[in-house]
Amino acid sequence: MNYLKRANELAIANVEEGGQPFGAVLVKGGEVIGEGVNELHITHDVSGHAEMIAIRRAQQKLQTDHLQGARMYASGEPCPMCYAAMAFVGIDDVIYSASVEEAADSGLTRSKEIYDDLKKSHTERNLIRSEQQKIAEISPLQVWQNK
Ligand SMILES: [Zn+2]
Repeated sequence: MNYLKRANELAIANVEEGGQPFGAVLVKGGEVIGEGVNELHITHDVSGHAEMIAIRRAQQKLQTDHLQGARMYASGEPCPMCYAAMAFVGIDDVIYSASVEEAADSGLTRSKEIYDDLKKSHTERNLIRSEQQKIAEISPLQVWQNK
């Protein structure tokens, strides 16, 4: 099976059903362990990206926190959220069809905006204002370290 072609077919079918043009196929050991399409239009869940859904299904199927050795095939270059999820779960290989820049040219600009913002230092980022505040109570990290 051509997995990238499959991801693109899922993406096109999703557009025809009112969704965004994103599909993903997650493969390990020559077996499809998860698939997904962008379900934002159905679930109104920000984590409903094709890659996140493919990962979620694979983790549920395999009952594992780690997916080392899996390869993600995605119709579009993963957004920062999906990129981070892939890194958290140990996927170190992705093949995509359309780039983030090409998605932006099609009017889907958010991934490129976030990637551009992440290139800046903490103080120069402008999508989300963040500030660290210390409180003089027991730190959850200290509890974690002492356990
Ligand atoms: Zn994403």
